Amino acid sequence: MDSGLDSTLKTRPCRVEIRTLALEDNYRFLRGLAGPDAECLAIVKADAYGHGLALCAPAAVRAGAHWLGVTSVEEGVAARAACLTAHLDARILIIGGVFPGQCSTVLEHSLTPVAWDGWHFDELETAARASGAAPQSVGIHLEIDTGMSRQGVALRNLPSLLARFGPESPLRVEAVMTHLYASDEAHGETTPAQLARLEEALAAIESQLPAGVPKPEFLSVGASAALLGGDGRTLRDLAGRHNLVPMLRLGLALYGLAPAFDPDFPAGHAPATLTSARASLQPVLEWKTRVVSVREIPADTEIGYNGTFVATEPMRLALIALGYADGIDRRLGNRFSLLVRGQRAPLVGRISMDQAVLDVTEIDGVGPGHDVVILGAQGGEVITAFDHAAASGTIPWEIFTRIASRVRRVEV
Ligand SMILES: *Cc1c(COP(=O)(O)O)cnc(C)c1O
Repeated sequence: MDSGLDSTLKTRPCRVEIRTLALEDNYRFLRGLAGPDAECLAIVKADAYGHGLALCAPAAVRAGAHWLGVTSVEEGVAARAACLTAHLDARILIIGGVFPGQCSTVLEHSLTPVAWDGWHFDELETAARASGAAPQSVGIHLEIDTGMSRQGVALRNLPSLLARFGPESPLRVEAVMTHLYASDEAHGETTPAQLARLEEALAAIESQLPAGVPKPEFLSVGASAALLGGDGRTLRDLAGRHNLVPMLRLGLALYGLAPAFDPDFPAGHAPATLTSARASLQPVLEWKTRVVSVREIPADTEIGYNGTFVATEPMRLALIALGYADGIDRRLGNRFSLLVRGQRAPLVGRISMDQAVLDVTEIDGVGPGHDVVILGAQGGEVITAFDHAAASGTIPWEIFTRIASRVRRVEV
């Protein structure tokens, strides 16, 4: 038994190993791509895309991030605590906005909400006044709906919203924000149309924000695909024309994955940003478990629930501590392989809630305690989040975020 059922691992062995140094390197690399005048917000929502907020938020700040992005006020409070524990400071953006009754918590933990609906501003203003906040002391990021029809104020409703930000308001529009919903389409036509609408919004803000209040500071546009797909310069130019600092909001790339483009760039025509990102980004996460026990079965033996796999010849099977309750897609049973001893071992039979079975007939010497790689590298083999996504008909974001919370995140 090499790395065996060793005594240092006193828990069920299904775990996620996190290389925070890789995350730090990725952050610095992306900031280099974005250029010195841009602000790169590190997205750590959804438990840092399943990588563990407590490890990843401080790592991003250590690498130089001034801003972290989370979904909710609850995640913001957790991010603030993670920073304080590490004696680090950062601005924390609540991307999903506030819910009724949360605004005093927003102020108490110095969180910065994205806001777009009238009632957001009502609640924030009331809470800010109640806490004695000075005029313009509470920054909000005003989201504009430039075409996604998800969050954000519609252009036609912008004038009435802007009228609220008078000199006496405790609120200040610190950033103008929008979300590009098709920047992963090479040569797409959607992004220029969105940016044209954004430019209209910026003109309205410049002319209609009441006199005597500070102008916004940031233009917050673009996720990983916008930066890597080569829209960074366009966004910098747009921000520059309006005296704003460009802010990119980077998630997937921070965790070491360059998004796929669909349709893809023609061969040999990928932008330099994407080529260099593909060469430089390092995966931050590896998902592993161990072999629990090994058994030999004769031909005609059924494997797993409902006997969906029947051995046609004698086989050697490895039971592993991994089930769909850990976040592996149950549909991968009989359809995907994991790594043991540097080789691919097919998942045979249905995946159970807490266990699965690998065919290790062709792999010599597999025994209890051997490491199994679910996502990551072993020997010369690699399984990526893209591989999982292709096998289960989804995207890498979902693969990462559904790794269950009971799977321990350990720093390596
Ligand atoms: C999650 C999120 C991002 C990050 O997207 P990636 O594609 O993972 O870089 C950026 N902006 C908003 C508004 C988001 O919700």
